Amino acid sequence: MPVANCQTYCRMLDAARERRFAYPAINVTSLTAANAVLRGLAESRSDGIIQISTGGGAFASGSAVKDMALGAMSIAEHVHRVAERYPIYVALVTDHCLADKLDQFVIPLVEETEKRRAARRPNLFNGHMFDGSNLPLSENLDIAAKLLERFRQNELVLEIEVGVVGGEEDGVVGSADAKLYTTPADTLEVARRLKAVEGARYLLAATFGNVHGVYKPGHVKLKPTVLKDCQEAVVKTYGEMARFYFVFHGGSGSALHEIHAAVDYGVVKMNVDTDMQYAFTRAIADHMFTHYDSVLKVDGEVGSKKAYDPRSYLAVAEIAMAERVKQAVSDLRAGGTTLFKGSET
Ligand SMILES: [Zn+2]
Repeated sequence: MPVANCQTYCRMLDAARERRFAYPAINVTSLTAANAVLRGLAESRSDGIIQISTGGGAFASGSAVKDMALGAMSIAEHVHRVAERYPIYVALVTDHCLADKLDQFVIPLVEETEKRRAARRPNLFNGHMFDGSNLPLSENLDIAAKLLERFRQNELVLEIEVGVVGGEEDGVVGSADAKLYTTPADTLEVARRLKAVEGARYLLAATFGNVHGVYKPGHVKLKPTVLKDCQEAVVKTYGEMARFYFVFHGGSGSALHEIHAAVDYGVVKMNVDTDMQYAFTRAIADHMFTHYDSVLKVDGEVGSKKAYDPRSYLAVAEIAMAERVKQAVSDLRAGGTTLFKGSET
């Protein structure tokens, strides 16, 4: 199927919240990784989300160019072309973008969408994330509300973040930092500010002890009930229509029961990056170690073209990552949920 349009993407999000499953949103930085996601989703008969970060976009544009928006567009164009061959829907979004990077990343991408729409062409992306979680909440929401207005006009879904997701760079030790847990008061303020932009759609990454990157279980305590408390508060104050669509960031290494609890409380999208990177690289490491004297020209030998042709190890990496995508789909209870009608064979 082609990349989901705005209506289909919104239907996907609604179906997930209603039926208590979530879509894996998988970061890709190459055509091979994008193909792995499509394969994994198709084999799971699940729709899903392909995501590109600022760094991933810069990488994809080439080391001599390093244009994050250009690289993101390039991967997106590829996905639009090849997605037609897979019997599922895929949505395309961009990942974390701090306020000081908006002008280099999100804004040029929105301008591209505006240009395409003016020419009656479909959107390249379904949505973008603005990460203002390092700003005071009011400032975060000032920027978010302004973006949301422009997104609404262009049928784009905004994703924002409140609270602070821990991470390696934060030197998180233990779970004492209260900022790792979003409060119902914070999310009520989000709802109050953003419901003013009528007809717009947004997703909220609220933090409940999540940590970006890798962490060993037990390092930080996940409390998915934080999400439940936030949902109850917003429904009580603003009614059922205000119920949040949550995003789970920093979930690598989470226990399955924690993932399920988060999905039960309204998580519809879970970002999966680190685990995919490992699956991809693990397969390449295996190839290199088992074909050591074929990929290298050892002791005056000539190696083996078959083993050092990049396709040989990228193909195994693609399949290994596709398998990891299938596991993510299964963890999120999304197997067999595709909305694509032609999928039942
Ligand atoms: Zn985040």
